[in-house]
Amino acid sequence: MKNINKNNILLFSCAVFFICLQFACAQTRETTTNPEEAKMERDRNMADPQWRKDNYIVNRDSAYANPYYALQKLKGGNKRFEEGRSIHPRQDPALIESLAEGQAPFAIIVGCSDSRVSSEALFDQGFGDLFVARTAGQVMAQASYATLEYAYLNLGTKLIVVLGHTSCGAVSAAVKIPADPPGHIVTLINAIKPAALAVKDMEGDEINNAVRQNVINQVNELRALESVLSDAYGAGNLLIVGAVYSLNTGEVEILDETMEDFPPTGYGTKDITGL
Ligand SMILES: [Zn+2]
Repeated sequence: MKNINKNNILLFSCAVFFICLQFACAQTRETTTNPEEAKMERDRNMADPQWRKDNYIVNRDSAYANPYYALQKLKGGNKRFEEGRSIHPRQDPALIESLAEGQAPFAIIVGCSDSRVSSEALFDQGFGDLFVARTAGQVMAQASYATLEYAYLNLGTKLIVVLGHTSCGAVSAAVKIPADPPGHIVTLINAIKPAALAVKDMEGDEINNAVRQNVINQVNELRALESVLSDAYGAGNLLIVGAVYSLNTGEVEILDETMEDFPPTGYGTKDITGL
């Protein structure tokens, strides 16, 4: 009799526990993933000027129309990401479905394939926002050039950001200048080698110095790339800048060396976020 009672109590406790667990899960689902409510909250926030200011929001159409605003939009997104306040915009099913009609990305990112450097995440942008070309060390060749030209000519995207990152494996490999790299890896080494050699005697971290120099070299490479990109850049219609993402802090630093001496442009260059 004693044993039966014990078993009954145990069974009853388990049943109560599972009922509570199910209830808790249902509650969580209801409060966090109701798409209607989430959309209403997003719309409410977006309609509030103070919320937009606090979250460094730049209007998407303005960013698409003007590469200087596009750059400010990226800076704002990265600031949210760095502060742990990402809003994960433009990821709802209705928006994703609407993008089947076409795309108008407001920035082109030439980034590294490194699994820790996802452009959409670190710039806190969504679907249809960024046109991304990724290779190790963001080394470019013919197909990458065509990819960027396509985005400028066919999609109307007017900003290219070359995005390196600290402690890049491809740059580290190039700094070591190995005698006989396997397979096609020599392609990466040869492309990054000029940057590695240029910073050899520079003070500071050799790899991160080479990362920066590699980005600067790649920005110059694209600005001079005939004829589509060089013509567009020279006419002030396309902005090409370089940046480095810190794996440690989450911050994207736009490199000053790539923010000088732009050709005259018809775009407004006003700072609209104060970042
Ligand atoms: Zn890398």
